[in-house]
Amino acid sequence: MKDTVTIVTGASQGIGKTIAEFIAEKGGDVAIFDIADGTDVVEGIRAQGQRAEFYHVDVTDFRAVEVAINTVVKDMGKVTGLVNNAGITNDKLLIRMKEEEWDKVIHVNLKSAFNCTRAAVKHMLRTGGAIVNISSISGVMGNAGQANYAASKAGLIGFTKSVAKEYGERGIRVNAVAPGFIRTKMTDALSEKTQEDMLKAIPLKRFGETTSVAHAVYFLLSEYGNYITGEVINVNGGLHM
Ligand code: NAP
Repeated sequence: MKDTVTIVTGASQGIGKTIAEFIAEKGGDVAIFDIADGTDVVEGIRAQGQRAEFYHVDVTDFRAVEVAINTVVKDMGKVTGLVNNAGITNDKLLIRMKEEEWDKVIHVNLKSAFNCTRAAVKHMLRTGGAIVNISSISGVMGNAGQANYAASKAGLIGFTKSVAKEYGERGIRVNAVAPGFIRTKMTDALSEKTQEDMLKAIPLKRFGETTSVAHAVYFLLSEYGNYITGEVINVNGGLHM
């Protein structure tokens, strides 16, 4: 990842934080976009000798994202990588789901990827680049109670393939990673019973770690993935294959 600058959204905690730290461990510079404070993450990365900056950005805000990405280019010289990781859930059965609960999840999980990718690609047209969208097993196989979330995550897969086709000839690769059950704040909130049921159904009989996702993202961003575009890598312990 030498001489790369990668924006990771939602990287103040959870999966995004581990992705940002792993990119830095591999020699890449990192810009974090989050509404939660990411200064600790940035300081940790700097202490290990890599460049890192935190930008307080709501990724649903089209203009704010454009300004922030231009600022990254001013501050760090370029943008060669983007990981669209920021995401939320708001689970409800469809008939109980309010319009604003649908809209918010679609905005944070899907529109954000449009906002960030559109602004980043403009810069990558000069340098080439690699983009990874964090989808979900719910977007691949559907999940009762997650119509909004699954739709946003399935939408990311169609978005990934379309942008991969548009910008392949400009040296920009676009892929997705679809995690299954990964130990984070998001999954700790699930009931013990749900967690036990999930474990029974996972062939590897364990939940994933944030590093499981970070390693797949790194593979796709780095030279190891240099002939892969428009692909979705499942990181789910075999829960769906
Ligand atoms: P997380 O711990 O909740 O981290 C997500 C980060 O995104 C938080 O810092 C959050 O800030 C931030 N964020 C939320 N809305 C934002 C906005 N509008 N603009 C900027 N940042 C925003 O989540 P995670 O579990 O690491 O999940 C990361 C990604 O992986 C998500 O896209 C998720 O859907 C996907 N995923 C996770 C799992 C899993 O098992 N955990 C499985 C499949 C897919 P706040 O805390 O202030 O909201």
